[in-house]
Amino acid sequence: KKTITRLPEWLKTPIPVNQNYKKIKKDLRGLNLHTVCEEAKCPNISDCWGGSDKSAATATIMLMGDTCTRGCRFCSVKTSKAPPPLDPHEPENTAEALRRWGLGYVVLTSVDRDDLADGGARHFAETIMKIKQKAPTMLVEALTGDYAGDLDMVKKVALSGLDVYAHNVETTEALTPFVRDRKATFRQSLDVLRTAKEAQPTLITKTSIMLGLGETDEQLMDALRELRKNNVDVVTFGQYMRPTKRHMAVHEYITPDKFELWRQRALDMGFLYCASGPLVRSSYKAGEAFIENVLK
Ligand code: SF4
Ligand code: SF4
Repeated sequence: KKTITRLPEWLKTPIPVNQNYKKIKKDLRGLNLHTVCEEAKCPNISDCWGGSDKSAATATIMLMGDTCTRGCRFCSVKTSKAPPPLDPHEPENTAEALRRWGLGYVVLTSVDRDDLADGGARHFAETIMKIKQKAPTMLVEALTGDYAGDLDMVKKVALSGLDVYAHNVETTEALTPFVRDRKATFRQSLDVLRTAKEAQPTLITKTSIMLGLGETDEQLMDALRELRKNNVDVVTFGQYMRPTKRHMAVHEYITPDKFELWRQRALDMGFLYCASGPLVRSSYKAGEAFIENVLK
């Protein structure tokens, strides 16, 4: 089996810091809001929080605790069959903190909570509704799990007033059993995305695929075709990075040129927009992309 350990040059770029980023970070102090951007030391933080204006700034917030009931082979989130109970004040507190922070676009994501009867869908939907009440102009993206195939839960979130429904297929259909938790399937993820769009046709649906896991070009084309067949609007591509030695190995570092090629292919296939690059994460500059491609 091929294992690569040395990082190519294009992944060693220094992180630029701009003024807008510094201001947004200062605003965050005292709000008791934990961003994935900071906690995961995301290399894109300056791009996402910076940019020309705060109304396009994007941050990602994790809901429902830090412990997941699943164990995907690429993910470093801790896992347990019985994570602590949900904090009933989280929807209200999160919405209030986001209103005070005042950024343009928030991505809400969560661990998977297979231990809860509704997978946490009500809690997720309530958080979105509270944000939209308190900060009606804030754009909201929800990045959810698959609710173990319970499509009524997908509908509940899709109808909560959000702007973008994201659910990540993560990889091609053929590689799914080797990459994602065994409860997840490619088909189930397509069902989630299709159901969200059917429930609320005005929302944008979005998914993300990690490259460098050993997928072939043909498998990736198949995945994109399936996504388009299920009316998925947006796709993003990023490089898989191994969080620790206990996680699956990187098969290949994809070059920036190849990422650009996939971006072009996705646009040619009818995706509304596509972020693609070695450091791209599914929430990468999501606010700016939404404003440029959907609102204008
Ligand atoms: Fe935050 Fe996502 Fe941007 Fe990283 S890519 S800084 S996690 S919004
Ligand atoms: Fe990580 Fe999500 Fe998989 Fe849980 S379901 S292990 S948070 S990728």
